[in-house]
Amino acid sequence: MPRKAEHIYAGLTVSALAESVRMRDLPPHKAGAEMIGAMVGGYYGSRAPDLLDPPVRPKHWGVAHSATAGAAVFALATAGSPRIQNELRVIADECFAQQAYYADKDRIGLALLYGLAGLAMYGLAGFVAGFAVAYLSHLALDHLECKSSLPLICRGC
Ligand SMILES: [Zn+2]
Repeated sequence: MPRKAEHIYAGLTVSALAESVRMRDLPPHKAGAEMIGAMVGGYYGSRAPDLLDPPVRPKHWGVAHSATAGAAVFALATAGSPRIQNELRVIADECFAQQAYYADKDRIGLALLYGLAGLAMYGLAGFVAGFAVAYLSHLALDHLECKSSLPLICRGC
């Protein structure tokens, strides 16, 4: 069973790689916000299966380590997260449009808030993608290390 640090390193690596492909057309400040979000999502995605199924015994795999959970997260990673990312990017760009509007009116406080909200939306877009691929990396590492197939729903429930 891989240790916590191995899961985190793998999760951060795959989330950074996946996000670097998805953010290639973004300007630097938006790409930076998404990458930070992806790294945070990668951390939590790499930890989520063991947080949901604590490793209290060698074959601790419950529902969070199941093929069913993996399939659901795979669907999120391949079909759901690009759609969610695009929706969040649209919201973020609306925030940046509001930021520009209030900056022109010399309402710097509102402009700052809308700018931060826009960056937060880009960060959230990165989080979604990073979480999903890091979760899958956790399941793959557990499967490879333990040389045992993932249970369909859970093992020993
Ligand atoms: Zn695990």
